[in-house]
Amino acid sequence: MTPQNAIAEYLKFTGKKTINITTALIDCDGILYDSMKNHTRAWVKLMQKNGIRCTRDEFYLSEGMTGVEIIKRKFREGAGKQVTDDEALALYGVKNRYFQELGGSPVMPHATKMLNALKQAGIERVLVTGSMQPTILERIDQDFPNLFGDNRVTGHDTRHGKPNPEPYLVGARKAGVEPSACLVIENAPLGVQAGHAAGCFTIGITTGPIAERELYRAGANLVYPNMEAFVAALPELLQALNAKPE
Ligand code: MG
Repeated sequence: MTPQNAIAEYLKFTGKKTINITTALIDCDGILYDSMKNHTRAWVKLMQKNGIRCTRDEFYLSEGMTGVEIIKRKFREGAGKQVTDDEALALYGVKNRYFQELGGSPVMPHATKMLNALKQAGIERVLVTGSMQPTILERIDQDFPNLFGDNRVTGHDTRHGKPNPEPYLVGARKAGVEPSACLVIENAPLGVQAGHAAGCFTIGITTGPIAERELYRAGANLVYPNMEAFVAALPELLQALNAKPE
């Protein structure tokens, strides 16, 4: 898929004549942080301790759902147990502890370059994550100082996790723009689905084991094989997106 084809398809799909991207809605895990390896390890440990069989792959695929949603579903499907919200929150606390015990997750290579390239192009940057993980949320301001300010949506701000479009709709609202003025930057199929359902031009970046075709299948307008490739393509992509028709 070339940017030109992706733009033509997006215009056809939305019935719009032009695109005017002013805002980037940026996912956290797997985009700003190389954290999914540790998240999937912590999830498997939590499930195994509770006698629920699972693989790490399924947690790569459920990335974007809230922790409570993941726990309720896994306990129902894997153990036939109905878990209350309070029980799920307590279990999510245990998962967070396991995640913390694995040590910090590094900032994604080239993520800072990506954020700088967006700024240079005059694009507003908004963080959109379903995470309520204090270890990650507290680090954002240390690792990306003076960057997001109030421009952030976390699991505390929404009722529904991805693939529901709510997190990205709330992100657009925080920036005071229509979803169609937003570029979503995502690594996970459910996150891509959420961006697509919100009506945003949605970029997938494969930063983990999930194949590019899975992100296209989820509704990505364009998929890049890694962060470095996306950063390299970003200035031209933004120009193409915001080009006026001849
Ligand atoms: Mg992610």
